[in-house]
Amino acid sequence: MSELKAGSDIKVGDKLLGWAVSEDVRSRGASGGLVTAVLAAALETGFVERVLVLKRVSEFEAYPVFTSDVKEVLESAGSMHSVPVNLARYLKPETCSGKIALPAKPCDTRAVVERAKRNVLSPENTYVIGLNCGGTMHPETVRKMLEAVYRLGPEEIEGEEILKGKLVFFTKDGKEHAVPIDDLEAEGLGRRDSCRYCQVKVPKNADLACGNWGVPGDLAGKGTFVEVMTEKGAELLRNAVHAGFAELISADEKGISAREKVNKVMLGMSEKRKAEVFAPIENGGERFEYFRKELENCIHCGACKAVCPVCTCGEDSKCTAYSSLADSYRMSLFHMVRFLHLSDSCIGCGQCEDVCPAEILLTRLYQRFAVPIQKEYRYIPGMSDRTPPFFALKPEDNEDKEGSGCSCR
Ligand code: SF4
Ligand code: SF4
Ligand code: SF4
Repeated sequence: MSELKAGSDIKVGDKLLGWAVSEDVRSRGASGGLVTAVLAAALETGFVERVLVLKRVSEFEAYPVFTSDVKEVLESAGSMHSVPVNLARYLKPETCSGKIALPAKPCDTRAVVERAKRNVLSPENTYVIGLNCGGTMHPETVRKMLEAVYRLGPEEIEGEEILKGKLVFFTKDGKEHAVPIDDLEAEGLGRRDSCRYCQVKVPKNADLACGNWGVPGDLAGKGTFVEVMTEKGAELLRNAVHAGFAELISADEKGISAREKVNKVMLGMSEKRKAEVFAPIENGGERFEYFRKELENCIHCGACKAVCPVCTCGEDSKCTAYSSLADSYRMSLFHMVRFLHLSDSCIGCGQCEDVCPAEILLTRLYQRFAVPIQKEYRYIPGMSDRTPPFFALKPEDNEDKEGSGCSCR
C-alpha cells in the first residue's frame, strides 16, 4: 500500500483512495465512509457552516435537511439508491447563506451548476462532493421488487448496495440477497427509466468525484476512490486529513483504468438505452401525435414544474401563464413552453416523472426535445460554467456551435 497523504500534499487532479479514520463512521458509511468523514470534518472544524444531507427515516424514506450537527451527518451515512431526491433544488437564496457542503449524484451536481448560472446560489460557497451513480430506484418500484422478486418485506431490510451489476439487499438476519439488475429491468423493475439512459455517471463537474469504481479488491467495501476536481475539493480533503477524520493514499494505475472502464461501459449502456427509448419518437410526421398522446392524461397539477431542479422561474413563469390563458390549449401550451424553455438545460434527472401522478414518462419527452439541441450547441448542461445557449446574448457566447452561433432561430 502506498504512503498516507499528509494532507498539505493533496492537489487538483489527484486520484486517491480514502476512508474514515473512525471505525463508527466506516461502519455507517458506504465504501469506508470517506464522504461522511469529509462532511463531518467540514462541520466540526467550521470549514462550512452547514451541510445538506438526506435524513434517513428508513432504507426507503429520507428527507433533505440542512444541519450543523455532526451527529445528524453521521446518521445520514450510507447508500440511498431508493430515495432519488435531487438535493440541488433545496439550494435557494434563502437557504444558501454562508458556506455549505453537500453530497451529490451527477444529476444533483449538474443542477447545482445550472442553478448557480441562474444566480440561485453562490458557487464559491457551495462545496459539492460528487458521488458516482449507476442509477437510483423509485421507492414504489423497490417495494414491488422486494415482494415479487426477493420475497422479502421492507421491515426485514437493513441496507442495500449496487455491486457488480447486481442489486443486493442485506437483511437483518445477516444474509445477502442479490439479483442481476438486467434481470430486474427485463421485468420492468430496477432503476428509474431516466437513470437507464442518463449521460453522466462520474460527477467530474463536482469539487470531488467519489465512488467505489476503481477500488482494488483488498479495499472493496472499505475504501472510496476520489478524484480531486477543483481547489475547493482539495481544501475539503486537506481539512478532513488535518482534522484527523480521513486517511488517503494515491490510487494506482490499475484502479484508475478500472474506474474509467466501468464508466465507459455504463455510458455505452446508457447510449444504447437512449436509442431504444427514442426510437418510437423518431418518426417525423407522427412525432407530434406521440407527444400529444403521451400528455393526454395530464391532470394539470404542475408538480413536474415545481420539482424541476433547473427551472428557477418561480410561480410567475411563462409556462404557468400559458396554463391558464386559454383552457382549450391549457396543457399543450404549458408543456410546449416548458419543452422549449428547458431544451438547452434539461439534465434528464427524472424528477418530473417521479412525481407525475398521471405516470407520464415525462423525462423521455423533455430529453427528446433537449438532446438534439444540446448536441447541436455542443452543450451538456451542468457540466461547465458556459452560458446556456438560449441565454446567450452575443454570438461569441455560442462559439462552439457550428455556423454563426446565433441562438435566435
Ligand atoms: S439521473 Fe443519472 S445521476 Fe441522476 S440518479 Fe439517475 S443515473 Fe444517477
Ligand atoms: S424537465 Fe424533468 S428531467 Fe429535465 S431537468 Fe426538469 S425535472 Fe429533470
Ligand atoms: S406532473 Fe404530470 S399530471 Fe402534473 S402537470 Fe406535470 S405532466 Fe401533468
